[in-house]
Amino acid sequence: FKDNFDENFFCDQSNQKIWEAVYGIPDEEIWNTRLKQKAKLLDYIKSKCSKDWLRSQIDPALSVSIFERFNPDALLIGFGRRFATYKRAHLLFTDIDRLARIVNNPKYPVQFIFAGKAHPNDGAGQGLIKQIVEISRRPEFLGKIIFLENYDMDLARHLISGVDIWMNTPTRLAEASGTSGEKALMNGVLNFSVLDGWWYEGYRKDAGWALTDKRTYQNEQYQNQLDAEAIYYLLEHDILPLYYEYGGKNYSEDWVKYIKNSIAQIAPHFTMKRQLDDYYDRFYNKLSEHFHILAADNFAKAKMMADWKANVRSRWDAIEIKSIEAGNGLNATVEAGKEYEVTVVVDEKGLDDAIGIESVIIRREDGQDHIYEVIPLLPVSKN
Ligand SMILES: *Cc1c(COP(=O)(O)O)cnc(C)c1O
Repeated sequence: FKDNFDENFFCDQSNQKIWEAVYGIPDEEIWNTRLKQKAKLLDYIKSKCSKDWLRSQIDPALSVSIFERFNPDALLIGFGRRFATYKRAHLLFTDIDRLARIVNNPKYPVQFIFAGKAHPNDGAGQGLIKQIVEISRRPEFLGKIIFLENYDMDLARHLISGVDIWMNTPTRLAEASGTSGEKALMNGVLNFSVLDGWWYEGYRKDAGWALTDKRTYQNEQYQNQLDAEAIYYLLEHDILPLYYEYGGKNYSEDWVKYIKNSIAQIAPHFTMKRQLDDYYDRFYNKLSEHFHILAADNFAKAKMMADWKANVRSRWDAIEIKSIEAGNGLNATVEAGKEYEVTVVVDEKGLDDAIGIESVIIRREDGQDHIYEVIPLLPVSKN
């Protein structure tokens, strides 16, 4: 960013125009930067894992074969987060045989790194971790699926800058944001997520991949199967072919195009500066204007409002309803499509226009009342 973007970039990060300069960066430079980031991650994992695995006394032969099988040139997909069950970390493992075929296809090598922690009281989340660790130690997944312990900010930083794809598969409507995807985005990592949380707003065509926001089944197991199927299909038919489509060059031109689209079209909308812009435009500046209006002329408007409120409060209980005339009586049953006339005469006790009158239509269902519609009555005449 520093080398290629306008010098005002760091204080003007929500300015999309500046980000568009990414289209001018040579493809090779972007591809090579990604490779460098990936190599850094691999170094970090090697040093971290050997320590963790020594401590947890994993069979040394196993740990050697994990690294032997690890392919530094393969497409690398990351999944790192709290193992709250709604995040569905296990979704990828819904059809183990299908997954084994995908990760062992010599034409399109792909590897997954999982990392995360479950809350100490979340037994189900801990169960998911155990399940993934066990799967990762099966012969067909050695070096293809890796689970990293002790997810923390340091590991998260390496992961979200080092993988090629950041995956998020939450249960629909349960994801508040999924901020790690926004962090990955800034590093030229492409997102592959359910259209929920931030990705619902962030996703753009040819800049990442999305699973539909629509839920098809009420049954959770069916829904998981459908989503897993969609993940396998997208991997096999879209994502892997795109990553390995070198077309005579030593990188995938279309993959770099996706990265450029993602940085130019999505990233500017998910910076802290953009968030602050919204706070200023929608709240802080408006409140500040109100303050200046209320405070002008030694708080003239503020005093007027306070007087008005005191006046209304003191006369409120004296307000008198003189009469109500409704064509078919008060509390009558009304029918859709018919017209009804209601006339209310009120003595406002001098509180001109301080009060309004509404007619409330209630719908009764199974003995329960629900407000169906509220209609303001218009003033007809004043005395
Ligand atoms: C960003 C981050 C999170 C939150 O990620 P979500 O995608 O919002 O769940 C959690 N832990 C660490 C260490 C992070 O860096």
